[in-house]
Amino acid sequence: MKLTIVYDNEIYKREMDLRSDWGFSCLINTEDETILFDTGGDGNVLLNNMRVLDVNPKDISKIVISHEHYDHNGGLKMLSLFVGDADLFRLDNTSPSENLHLFSISSPYKIADGIFTTGRLRGTIDEQSLILKGEKGIYVLVGCSHPGVVQILNAARKYGNCCRIDRWFS
Ligand SMILES: [Zn+2]
Repeated sequence: MKLTIVYDNEIYKREMDLRSDWGFSCLINTEDETILFDTGGDGNVLLNNMRVLDVNPKDISKIVISHEHYDHNGGLKMLSLFVGDADLFRLDNTSPSENLHLFSISSPYKIADGIFTTGRLRGTIDEQSLILKGEKGIYVLVGCSHPGVVQILNAARKYGNCCRIDRWFS
């Protein structure tokens, strides 16, 4: 499993033509699937960074929106014009486009092999996080963490022990 941050406030690879912007989006590549977690705030920035990173939107089979803040869902409408048929996992019960097939999430749910959502967690705004099963334990991929890290990790804990990321590029 490989994670690539495609939208962020900071750019690590400055030699590339990537654009930074307030928001977050992370691409998850498994052996079988390409899954996008959040879409950043601006579809132009998202699609520019995908082009630079050689990500074809048509390869995305699933999209997960952590919560309904613009800096996490703002790129979804424009992205929907460039992806093919894909499954959309969000807490909201609307889809911006017919090619995005809505799974309105409330409870924990298996998104793909080794990838689970915590389901809806209550906070200042409700949010879902992803649990990624690795060889040494689990990783937790979050949006803003509005429900609080403690609640998120308690929900994730039943899937295994959390791994620590030792290197973080910024
Ligand atoms: Zn937020």
